[in-house]
Amino acid sequence: MSRNLKTDVLVVGAGPVGMFTALLLAEAGVRVTLIECEDRPAAHSYACGLHPRSLKMLNRLGLLEAVQKEARRLESVAFYSEKGREVEISFAALPAEFPFVLVLPQNCLEALLAERIATLGGHVLWHHRLSALQPRPDGVLAEVDQLVGTGTGSAVPRWEWVVGRTIEVAADYVVGADGHHSLVRRLLGIEHDHLATPELYVVYEFEPESPLADELQVVVAEQRKSVLWPLPGGRCRWSFQLAGTDETEFGEKDRNPSWAEPAALAQRTWERLEKRLQLRAPWFAAGIRAVDWAVDIQFQHRLARQYGRDRCWLVGDAAHQTAPAGIQSMNVGLREAKELAGILTRLLKGDGSADLLEDYERKFRSEWLTLLGAQGTLSASPDAKPWVKAHGKHLLSSLPASGEDLTALLRQIGLTLA
Ligand SMILES: Cc1cc2nc3c(=O)[nH]c(=O)nc-3n(C[C@H](O)[C@H](O)[C@H](O)COP(=O)(O)OP(=O)(O)OC[C@H]3O[C@@H](n4cnc5c(N)ncnc54)[C@H](O)[C@@H]3O)c2cc1C
Repeated sequence: MSRNLKTDVLVVGAGPVGMFTALLLAEAGVRVTLIECEDRPAAHSYACGLHPRSLKMLNRLGLLEAVQKEARRLESVAFYSEKGREVEISFAALPAEFPFVLVLPQNCLEALLAERIATLGGHVLWHHRLSALQPRPDGVLAEVDQLVGTGTGSAVPRWEWVVGRTIEVAADYVVGADGHHSLVRRLLGIEHDHLATPELYVVYEFEPESPLADELQVVVAEQRKSVLWPLPGGRCRWSFQLAGTDETEFGEKDRNPSWAEPAALAQRTWERLEKRLQLRAPWFAAGIRAVDWAVDIQFQHRLARQYGRDRCWLVGDAAHQTAPAGIQSMNVGLREAKELAGILTRLLKGDGSADLLEDYERKFRSEWLTLLGAQGTLSASPDAKPWVKAHGKHLLSSLPASGEDLTALLRQIGLTLA
């Protein structure tokens, strides 16, 4: 061991949820250390939509103006079947401070959060990877490996990241914001429950030939979803759910912004996209000017059995994952970050007891059990359209909202979540 560090809260993982947690803690005057095993933020749009409740939280931090400058505003979501447009829901009718959704690529959100952390005198410790946790009566002792680059190989030189030194971090609390493969969760011995079959998607981002409406469009046909997110800068994303599932695990976020396929492959990607659009969304008349990203990804429907224990707690994808259409995992993750940061701030000031952390777990586990369809009932009013009655569960997971906003949006089409 060559260095020791003492902090109030160690946040593991600088994705959007970890950065948001660290920012809220720093704003509250808590000493926070934010570590990330990669060397830079994500490079693509991933979870690209901010729910009305996320906008409210970003506004409180004075970040909404910066977000709005880069984002695209959506006013509604329209659902389609194979026959065409079935029903639409307006965000404007929400009793929310910001009744709309902003489309902001995840890499832009991460850059804004990192910038704000820096203005508070903090920073992300890039290339610092958690490797072990040891509970102590008054806190947690974490081992963090600092990764350094080294050249290997003689005839063919190679660049590798190896452990340069290991740092001992003594923290009062640890927040596991370390995503889908969360080591914090695994070190705590917390299992996941898989609450539905995984959903496999192919995602394309491209510039259309003509402009698109400011509307999220979701096609539900033959038990599969296809989703159109208009993006800032005149681009858009189509995600098509594929039949079946893949054996591979959830992929890592790419850190390299350049994406290019060899010419032969690029031609095939283009043709497949064209064909999928003809089959799944024949009314989509905007055309394809240039495809700039394509990726396959499988999403699980899973929830951690516990959100943590003692002095180590989880937020975001470390605790849950769901289908991508409604961007619920990241946005509910941002709400978890706010709640957990508030509780840890109180506990560090000696205000409140550890019961607050159990309440945190109860509240969000219960919300996730409902979002994942394992608890509660979704019922349709007699005047709801038959198509809505038949596809309720797909509509629930595809709406970019949670909590009371989600209930209010569902009510517009005659669905009640209780
Ligand atoms: C290709 C792709 C497409 C996606 N598309 C969508 C979509 O359409 N809709 C949607 O809702 N979501 C989508 N997602 C998921 C979305 O990106 C996540 O929901 C979101 O990133 C969750 O944020 P988070 O901060 O909880 O976790 P993450 O963003 O996963 O951040 C966790 C961070 O922890 C770091 N980390 C992990 N282990 C350690 C360790 N031991 N030490 C230090 N750091 C560590 C990781 O490197 C990572 O940066 C997509 C993801 C991918 C990969």
